[in-house]
Amino acid sequence: MKFTESLTDVIEPGKVEQIMRAINDANQIVITTHLSPDGDALGSSLALCHFLKREGKKVRIIVPNSFPYFLKWMKGAGEISVAEYNPEAARHILNHADLIFSLDYNIPKRVGLMASMLEESPALKILIDHHLFPGNGFNIVVSHPEISSTSELIFRLLFQANRYGEMSQAEAECIYCGMMTDTGGFTYNSSDPEIFEIISLLLRKEIDKDAIYSKVFHNYSAERFRLLGFTLSQRMEIYPDLHSALIWLSKEDQEQFRFNKGDTEGFVNYPLSIKGIIFSTFIREDDGLIKLSFRSQQTFPCNEFASDFFNGGGHLNASGGEYYGPLDKALEIYGEGLKKYEEILKRSMNSD
Ligand code: 5GP
Ligand code: MN
Repeated sequence: MKFTESLTDVIEPGKVEQIMRAINDANQIVITTHLSPDGDALGSSLALCHFLKREGKKVRIIVPNSFPYFLKWMKGAGEISVAEYNPEAARHILNHADLIFSLDYNIPKRVGLMASMLEESPALKILIDHHLFPGNGFNIVVSHPEISSTSELIFRLLFQANRYGEMSQAEAECIYCGMMTDTGGFTYNSSDPEIFEIISLLLRKEIDKDAIYSKVFHNYSAERFRLLGFTLSQRMEIYPDLHSALIWLSKEDQEQFRFNKGDTEGFVNYPLSIKGIIFSTFIREDDGLIKLSFRSQQTFPCNEFASDFFNGGGHLNASGGEYYGPLDKALEIYGEGLKKYEEILKRSMNSD
């Protein structure tokens, strides 16, 4: 078939074979993904899960904690186990697996309470991910930071293993959702022409890409919108010389707008729409910790900022971190970070 010949073998063919053999040999397979699963985490996990079920395998997805309401429409989402709700059951499942997939994260720390369970499990472990610096402890590592989503890697794995022909519509939908969410609806990290060749192949599975967009991005509550308005008008600081912007929300702010998990998803991207801003930070007070999200444009390494000051990491243009302490202190540390990166930030704007 002509249209199946055009993709580069991004994953080493030897690894594709190894993974297919491991799947073939396994009876109990568990798929895991990172804390606060996003569209890519769930899209890649569900697509792989559907594929494995078609192969006649027993497979479960376990995530560390719950995921937002606008991702619940994906086929199979209702059967995902949440470790936080029943840690002992999660430990049992991981211990009795003979093959574990780690999708969309690079190190065990990113699965929170599941990290020790993962390490204890005697199963064969396969990492498939697109974050920098894959950790130790995996038997097979498929790590491609140059690829914009793990869902794309799942597509490539199945494609390279000659399983595209039989791919189901549900698998294609989940993969598309992950590719779409990790690129902000194909507005960043998405200039590789092969992304659009893959989309074309997914469309041949009769997915409705516009409907998928609506299910994810047109599915928010009115409270989220009011909270967004409040954040942008009352909780935003702009530092024009540093091409930077900060938004933040206290617990009290969020309660005032009846915050639901996922309501602030994407907030951090808004300040990047302001002319001249290339670095955006969102600091949010969560239960018992402060959660930080960073986004940048061009070459500013927001992952270095995250790891330098907030024990975090991620991609060059999208990263995150955590802080255990009061919100005021997190804001103060952010200020120190800006000072350290002042020169780079001042110089980092392309002239146009
Ligand atoms: P988000 O801002 O959407 O929560 O996260 C953006 C990206 O930053 C994620 O895809 C992940 O790579 C990274 N990230 C988010 N939070 C953390 C964190 O606490 N630690 C590390 N190492 N990376 C994070
Ligand atoms: Mn991802």
